[in-house]
Amino acid sequence: MIFVKNAEQIRLMKVAGRITGEALALAGEMVRPGVTTKQLDECIRHHIEKCGARPSFLGYGGFPASACISVNDEVIHGIPSARVLEEGDIVKIDVGACIGGFHGDSANTFPVGRVSPEAVRLIEATRRSFELGVEAAAAEGARIGDIGAAVDGYVTGLGFSTVKKYVGHGVGHDLHEDPNVPNYGTRGRGPRLCTGMTIAIEPMINQGTDRVTELSDGWTVKTADGALSAHYEHTVALTADGPLLLTKV
Ligand code: MG
Ligand code: MG
Repeated sequence: MIFVKNAEQIRLMKVAGRITGEALALAGEMVRPGVTTKQLDECIRHHIEKCGARPSFLGYGGFPASACISVNDEVIHGIPSARVLEEGDIVKIDVGACIGGFHGDSANTFPVGRVSPEAVRLIEATRRSFELGVEAAAAEGARIGDIGAAVDGYVTGLGFSTVKKYVGHGVGHDLHEDPNVPNYGTRGRGPRLCTGMTIAIEPMINQGTDRVTELSDGWTVKTADGALSAHYEHTVALTADGPLLLTKV
């Protein structure tokens, strides 16, 4: 069931979204060679709790940290650890914060020092595919399938692939609500989008195959071929004035 939010609920989601976006930005500023993924996680938790919110991911399904931090061929759900970031890595940071009964959810991919031109191209294509997904969602009469078709069509044209096994989602009282928001699809198919819907649009884009495998830690998802993956996500509210990126700061 899709929960449509009223103006007051959107206002509360803006608060959760702002804290989420700030925590992600602060961690992004810390990214450099020599920093551990655990240090990034601590920075995120500190900011979220300082704001009176709680990290949405901490304890979610038993997840042991405040943020998912995934490096290079890791796609999503990486567990922060003593791993030291190295020059040339790319790191995906995924953050959620809950306050006032609502969640924000946002992710970005950061280069560690100087990275390869291929990595830059992948990161930029992933962000651009998100923007195209938002544009598709903003169109009159848009459906969920329009978002995925826009994302998948763009990145496939560049020789990349979209992860199919994991998808975007509705977000609000719960971190994951209906509807699913896949990064692939058919135009004109799926639930119709309407004012008051709040969805996490989150392309996960692979350099090579779209196939992924889960590590034995029970969380980390990596590309099956070991090639790079990038991730970009905002919580998006569909309003009468168009899409609003609640986690953008
Ligand atoms: Mg996320
Ligand atoms: Mg999400």
